[in-house]
Amino acid sequence: MKISFHGAARSVTGSRHLIQSGGTRVLLDCGLFQGRRQEADWKNRRLGFEAKSVDAVLLSHAHIDHSGALPALAKQGFSGKVHATRATGHLTEMMLEDSARIQESDCEYVNKKERRRGQARLEPYYGSEDVRAITKRLVGVRYDDAFQVRPRLKASFHDAGHILGSAAIKLIVTAGGSTTTVLYTGDLGRKQMPILRDPAPPPPCDVLIIESTYGDRLHSEGREETKQKAQGLVAHAVAHRSKIIVPAFAVGRTQDLVVWIKELVKEGRIEPLPIYIDSPMAVKATEVFRRHPECYDKETYRILTSEGDPFVARYIRYVSSVQESQKLNSLKGPCVIIAASGMCEGGRVLHHLKHAIQDEANIIAIVGFQAEHTLGRKLVEGWDTVPIFGVPTPRRARVVRFNGLSAHADRDDLLTYVRAISPAPGKIFIVHGEERQSCSLAMAIRAEHPRVDVVVPDLGAIYEL
Ligand SMILES: [Zn+2]
Ligand SMILES: [Zn+2]
Repeated sequence: MKISFHGAARSVTGSRHLIQSGGTRVLLDCGLFQGRRQEADWKNRRLGFEAKSVDAVLLSHAHIDHSGALPALAKQGFSGKVHATRATGHLTEMMLEDSARIQESDCEYVNKKERRRGQARLEPYYGSEDVRAITKRLVGVRYDDAFQVRPRLKASFHDAGHILGSAAIKLIVTAGGSTTTVLYTGDLGRKQMPILRDPAPPPPCDVLIIESTYGDRLHSEGREETKQKAQGLVAHAVAHRSKIIVPAFAVGRTQDLVVWIKELVKEGRIEPLPIYIDSPMAVKATEVFRRHPECYDKETYRILTSEGDPFVARYIRYVSSVQESQKLNSLKGPCVIIAASGMCEGGRVLHHLKHAIQDEANIIAIVGFQAEHTLGRKLVEGWDTVPIFGVPTPRRARVVRFNGLSAHADRDDLLTYVRAISPAPGKIFIVHGEERQSCSLAMAIRAEHPRVDVVVPDLGAIYEL
């Protein structure tokens, strides 16, 4: 059996891991690279393997860094099935349509600019017809049900507690009379996340492929501390008629926040101030969340059956139209505006930042991971002047970071997960982390499990097992 790594190797984005055994080739995730434009573009135009030779894809969850290159796979001749939980399938469909649209308009923009300089036209990685070609190949699977992917390859999906539908994938590969169990974590969530069940305990395995987004960091804030911080912010906003701007991914993060804010109001910790969810994508994603109560934890399921829709409240307003979104610019606080993108790289949140960032009464609340070179990262790092739509803009609003709301396991959670595998796996591959995070986690695991072979693979590396 061979494993090769074609993305999220010493970096966070572009998850693509290929398993080969006895003529069968199965791909774990097929994500897009994100980050600095040219570098990401180069990597996105090369899958790193022959698309036609892949028999099937197993998709851990819908985030674009795991699903975003699936249409390119179809475009290049893949004709197998894509297995995912039903919720992941529905979210992925929506996200890929959006991804194709963004690429088309980005290319159009670049081409217009470059044509003046006589450059070659830039083509999108794929178009909406490729999205339709791949979504037709999606097959919904139920959590914990084992199924036959190929004659000598069985798989099952288990709760990962990261976003709706997210799963860790267990593979049982039979070759030459012996079986090898591979466990791929996808992105691991945390216990007691809003909406979702906790990550399932890991089954025994021979080979573990584990994410390491927070491989050397702890989410130092506890639940109570996070709630108190939110309480303080809202009190400030009410007293100063401030706006609280929250950049958040439309899928997952936004729904978590809605459920969490409702909980704070119900507990009497914060006033029910107006909350605007300003994102057409979030509106659509929330619809998908509504369709999949089978993914809810007990508490969210209880809310659904006793109080009704967990995503609505009289003080929460979902905004789709551009006109209504623009009206929010001149709105007086107190209010909370939740808008995408989560790392402030584009989308409506940029307009809200532009209008709110120069007023010292306002607050920018950062609730998720901010990658290198993004505007979100600059805000977290406390820059006094930041580029918004290319214009250097003084920042007077206060930036407050919530690290207790992360949808990713931290270093301790990851180490606890590995410790729970009994007996310990023979080999561990560490992926989906910036180099420092992955290497730091590797060292910690080696210290605890000296007999285990722990590897941080390079991009394109192949391992014979
Ligand atoms: Zn993810
Ligand atoms: Zn990811």
